[in-house]
Amino acid sequence: MHTVRRLVFYSWPLPYTLTGIAIGLLLCGRFRNVDGVIEIHGPVVANVLRRLYVPAMAMTLGHVVFGQSEEALELTREHERVHVRQYERWGLLFVPTYLSLSILLYLRGRDGYRENPFEVEAYAIDRTWQRR
Ligand SMILES: [Zn+2]
Repeated sequence: MHTVRRLVFYSWPLPYTLTGIAIGLLLCGRFRNVDGVIEIHGPVVANVLRRLYVPAMAMTLGHVVFGQSEEALELTREHERVHVRQYERWGLLFVPTYLSLSILLYLRGRDGYRENPFEVEAYAIDRTWQRR
């Protein structure tokens, strides 16, 4: 039963994971498997993350986490693992739901990133952020 459950958790967000792997290859990232999650970092990956609409130390796409560096991946691991679990729960619906909530918050004059419920959950668990 446990194996079946893991299979469902990996298959439901698989299109995002495969997209993440393809992006990681295109950006010549270095791949590493950490507890069943593919972490990718490298200079080009770092450049892209810095230029995002909300510049990020790390970003999750399914079971892939992009980081500006190995250190960034370590610092953000708890936070990004919350997003991995969110992808496992929401699957294909995760990205459209996340973006819709951000847009709704933004249109109401609120912070579409920090007040997004997915980020609220991730920051609540993220002890690194609380230490700052
Ligand atoms: Zn986050």
